[in-house]
Amino acid sequence: MNTLKVNVVTPDGPVYEGEAELVSVKAQSGELGILPGHIPLVAPLTISAVRLKNGSDAQLVAVSGGFVEVRPKQLTILAESAELPGDIDVDRARAAKERAERRMEQAKQENVDFKRAELALRRAINRMEVAGR
Ligand code: ATP
Repeated sequence: MNTLKVNVVTPDGPVYEGEAELVSVKAQSGELGILPGHIPLVAPLTISAVRLKNGSDAQLVAVSGGFVEVRPKQLTILAESAELPGDIDVDRARAAKERAERRMEQAKQENVDFKRAELALRRAINRMEVAGR
């Protein structure tokens, strides 16, 4: 089966390296399913789960935004942070979620603190979903 070489990289170093037959990402323009041979592309990502399919294996990676760069045989994700399910501390994500919700209650909508708390909330929920909780 034709595969893509996949790398997920953050400022702290590589998080994942492997092969995939299909990579599903949530770009800001919508969901993209990328197969080997795809035309070159760079797209900004949302805070979301990246899904890597290889035969009957499926790997999830939680990403906090960043970019996907596609080339015909290679796909690279550059993200501020990225975690595999087993590396996610669910208690930490739950605490971050509660903290963000409190801040959103306190801050008025549309201000900088509100937006920042909203992003923190989305990161926490994404991590909890990728960890399966
Ligand atoms: P927190 O408030 O818990 O720090 P955050 O969303 O502000 O959450 P980030 O700034 O996105 O955290 O990430 C900082 C670093 O901590 C990154 O390396 C990220 O991978 C890691 N990280 C954040 N939350 C978790 C978690 N729940 N489990 C494992 N690693 C995490």
